[in-house]
Amino acid sequence: MFPGLIIRSSSIHAAGCYTTRPIKAGIRICEYDGPRLSKAVADARYEGRSVTYLFACGDNLVIDGFGTAMFFNHSCDPNCETEQDEEGRVYICTMRDVAAGEELTYEYNLHDSDEDNQDCYCGATACRNTMFSDYELKRRARNAKRKAAELAAAAPA
Ligand SMILES: [Zn+2]
Repeated sequence: MFPGLIIRSSSIHAAGCYTTRPIKAGIRICEYDGPRLSKAVADARYEGRSVTYLFACGDNLVIDGFGTAMFFNHSCDPNCETEQDEEGRVYICTMRDVAAGEELTYEYNLHDSDEDNQDCYCGATACRNTMFSDYELKRRARNAKRKAAELAAAAPA
């Protein structure tokens, strides 16, 4: 892990991860580590819980995060991104130079969520107001459209 990371309260959400030192772009700062679970096991374990630290990696695998990585908040204008190596290990890396004192964030790109919404309060100028990925938003729009069509078809003439 990169030295100088601290966890403290965040204006985005609860606690966040901050750096006390400047970090150059392209540095692996932290591994998103934790037990690997299948999606089914994770869903069963966390059913009804609104706060989880699950990181989807691969088709049917999630990392049940613990440690520093789980404190990274989502931002629509992030300074970090995640990258996965050949062994399936996931790292959080800086995507631009980060100044000392900045909160470290990455784009969650949430998908396959059972939540109705995942509002974003990151405060970025370009905030999308949701932590869902574009793909997930499209999928949801499609589903809503299909449902509306089904309801219309089922309605008495
Ligand atoms: Zn946002």
